[in-house]
Amino acid sequence: MSKRQSTAVYGEVIDAISRFLAAPPEGTPREIIRAFDLLGDKDFLPPKLFLETVEQAPVAISITDPAARILYSNAAFEKLTGYTRDDVVGLNESVLSSNSTPMEVYQGLWQTIKEKKVWRGTLVNHRKNGGEYLAELIISPVLNPDGRVAYFLGMHRDVTELHALEQRLAFQKKLTEAALDAAPMVVAMIGSDGRVLLDNHAYKALLGDLGGEPATLFVDALQQQIGFDLSNGGDESDGFTNIDVRLDRRGAQTPRWFSCSGVRIVDLDDAAGSYFRRDDDGERSCLLLIANEVTESRNRVNEARLNMIRANMAEQQMVQTMREAISASLFKLQAPINIIKAAMAMCAHGNDCCGMGPVLQQALDSGEEAVESLHHALPGPRAEQAASVNMNELVHEVLRLSTDSLLAAGVVVDWRAAPVLPALRGRPNGLRALLKYLIDNATQALNESGRDYREMRIETREENGDVVVAVMDNGPGISDAHTLRVFEPFYCGWEHSRDHSGMGLTMAQEVAISHGGSIEIDRHFIGGCRVFVRLPYVSSAGDGP
Ligand code: FAD
Repeated sequence: MSKRQSTAVYGEVIDAISRFLAAPPEGTPREIIRAFDLLGDKDFLPPKLFLETVEQAPVAISITDPAARILYSNAAFEKLTGYTRDDVVGLNESVLSSNSTPMEVYQGLWQTIKEKKVWRGTLVNHRKNGGEYLAELIISPVLNPDGRVAYFLGMHRDVTELHALEQRLAFQKKLTEAALDAAPMVVAMIGSDGRVLLDNHAYKALLGDLGGEPATLFVDALQQQIGFDLSNGGDESDGFTNIDVRLDRRGAQTPRWFSCSGVRIVDLDDAAGSYFRRDDDGERSCLLLIANEVTESRNRVNEARLNMIRANMAEQQMVQTMREAISASLFKLQAPINIIKAAMAMCAHGNDCCGMGPVLQQALDSGEEAVESLHHALPGPRAEQAASVNMNELVHEVLRLSTDSLLAAGVVVDWRAAPVLPALRGRPNGLRALLKYLIDNATQALNESGRDYREMRIETREENGDVVVAVMDNGPGISDAHTLRVFEPFYCGWEHSRDHSGMGLTMAQEVAISHGGSIEIDRHFIGGCRVFVRLPYVSSAGDGP
């Protein structure tokens, strides 16, 4: 009898047993029914069905004895390997082995299955016609009732194409990465959840310098500048080009500037649950960001701008000094005028003024005339248009403009800018003047402290809809009693008040208030003075003084 015939006969026997068990003849001993039951309980599927299932399964299946001699192979096995059942029954599975699989792999395989465990792995097999293929194989030991290995069940499929695809993908990835790394600009693919899916050397170099994940900083800056929202779907046409983004580095004096372009790409969605999702179900997108550093050219432009601002501020300072001097004169002139008015009131009430009435009247007239002409001479506040303002930029400019005085006073500046700060509507010159008052005050305080180590720290941050600028110094500080008085006009608490009229903080407060904000001295600050300026960035400031 051939091996093929023996398998057919085995099938018929199982069929016969199934029929017998379905209606056992009356009087059949129980032991016999139980013995047949071991081959296939009638409550379950008949054994023939199992045989058919294995036979027709689309995966190559073979059953071996404990020494890997093949007892059975199914139709898919024949289709894949080219070996018929008659070719292989009685042979070792090594008939499929090509010489490309390392011996250690086989040793590992045998060690695993001998321990009665399932082995999964990949082997290089060859077909009957000699062609090689990659076999993804699972070998499962089948134990007999006393726990020893009775058979091995082998199932394998051809994964040659899958492997080729993986290799091609890996190669493509390497190619893409090499090309990206060679590019001088920063390139990053940012997922909808903000994770970086792909980046290049230039991007990685930024990581160390910026003290934060550059992707987050870029996405935040783009959201604030152009309202670009990565988490909110959008379609592939929703990109941007050449948007200048400023990133401030903690502790560094100069910011870095990048010209950014980006395109949205539909995000990879490999979740099983998304398999049947339709295209119009709203896709998540990721951002391909290309950022070219333009710090140098920006610095050149900024230098020219700074010179303009310097000239502008000098002029503004001059006008301000005149305003302060005239205001002080008006203030001082008011005292004698008040005395004259009081004296004249006494004369009017019948007191003996020794005929001084006309003289007093003349003095009052000329005093009031002087007040009026001083009022005329008082330069009016310069009208300034509100514009979009970045406080980091203004602090940076004012620090640059104050470099000489800071160096002369031996002040170490610790500039802690928020990496990304929302822009606010404001009058840049007014706000620069505000910052200059605060920095000049801190410098003066440090000068007067006589300390060896003089430090000024400036911090910016966003807080509850406000942009907050904190200016701190380790000078003598301001006592509780004076935290409000220092804002009064002409109040001057400096020991050496040569260039100070006592109007600086008054003016600074005026600017803050005209922007809908505030300025306050931190009463709880220990070891110096800390001033907070809060400027709302949501509401826009009008074109005030
Ligand atoms: P061998 O000398 O036969 O084996 C290599 C090493 O494996 C030996 O040095 C030894 O360490 C270990 N080894 C081999 N046989 C035993 C054993 N009986 N007990 C303990 N250790 C042993 N191989 C394939 O290449 N392709 C297949 O598709 C494949 N399918 C298999 C399916 C099943 C169910 C089983 C049980 C094994 C299968 N094998 C397959 C492994 C196969 O039996 C051979 O071990 C392998 O092909 C290497 O054969 P070889 O003649 O080159 O070396």
